Amino acid sequence: MIIVMKPDVNKQQINNVISLVENHGLKTHLSCGDQVTIIGVVGDKSKLSKCNIELLGGVEKIVPVTESYKLANKKFHTTSSTVKVRDVVIGGDQFTIMAGPCAIESEKQIIETAHAIKKSGATMLRGGAYKPRTSPYSFQGLEEEGLKYMATAREETGLPIVCEVISLQSVETAYKYVDMFQIGARNMQNFYLLKEIGKTKTPVLLKRGLSATIDEWLNAAEYIMSEGNENVVLCERGIRTFETATRNTLDISAIPIIKQKSHLPVIVDPCHATGKRAYVNPLSKASIAVGADGLMIEVHPNPSVALSDGPQSLPPDEFDKLCNELRPFSKLVGKNL
Ligand code: PEP
Ligand code: MN
Repeated sequence: MIIVMKPDVNKQQINNVISLVENHGLKTHLSCGDQVTIIGVVGDKSKLSKCNIELLGGVEKIVPVTESYKLANKKFHTTSSTVKVRDVVIGGDQFTIMAGPCAIESEKQIIETAHAIKKSGATMLRGGAYKPRTSPYSFQGLEEEGLKYMATAREETGLPIVCEVISLQSVETAYKYVDMFQIGARNMQNFYLLKEIGKTKTPVLLKRGLSATIDEWLNAAEYIMSEGNENVVLCERGIRTFETATRNTLDISAIPIIKQKSHLPVIVDPCHATGKRAYVNPLSKASIAVGADGLMIEVHPNPSVALSDGPQSLPPDEFDKLCNELRPFSKLVGKNL
């Protein structure tokens, strides 16, 4: 439930409510907006049944939250939140482009790509060091060696880096290098992994599971946030449907739905959504139109020899053209790119 405070509430009254709730063994989450102050309550609310909270000074009303996700819920935090990754802000009036190869293949490849994407306007570098591939015989990633190359690319370009983690062991290793953890579609419901990264303060890019509903996705975010890490950015990357013309089906409606249900920033990955380079440009534009906070785009210096996801990766010149074409679209929706 949430406790909505009166517009003229004072600090003492807020503290009284928080103490009462916490003394009954529940957790609180304070959100002070320009218009309204809200105290979100997480836990077994039956413990408060005899407290008559609505009669306390400064309390306007109590609103039940029926959804199982609370901290990720817009009712808990009525204004959109932003997540900072080093100097890069995701959400709010920013439109953030993360780009880079599907997999880190060599130091030269990642550094060359980092310089190219920065020149075109990307503000974060992506690259996979641990690759959860469909086949066990496909390239599985360079692991720590790849993370070192990513860190060098960050030193050379200043771009913050985002890398996928797939296990506890990879979290321990990647923690030393990355600015943002990526949880891939296949691990969206690996609750143990979500809890572990929830214990860190490192921002998290949480991709939607291949067959996850929006509510399941938001509950996955809740797993991370409930451990104390509220720096979560969602990423729509397509879901499995009966359609075979594309690798997955981009659920474009998920963006406005997320915006209605949650305060978390949400970006789109049109590459994994379609599996085909030709559709990346139009779907990037569509993503801006429906209110996304950014994009994740796979870029490879030479996609025809990429060790993974070449057909959906853009060469640097096409990525540059895409960024140039996206600028007027982002301006139109009032976002800085
Ligand atoms: C990726 O971003 O490289 C990736 C594997 O994506 P997803 O988890 O969305 O398939
Ligand atoms: Mn990929």
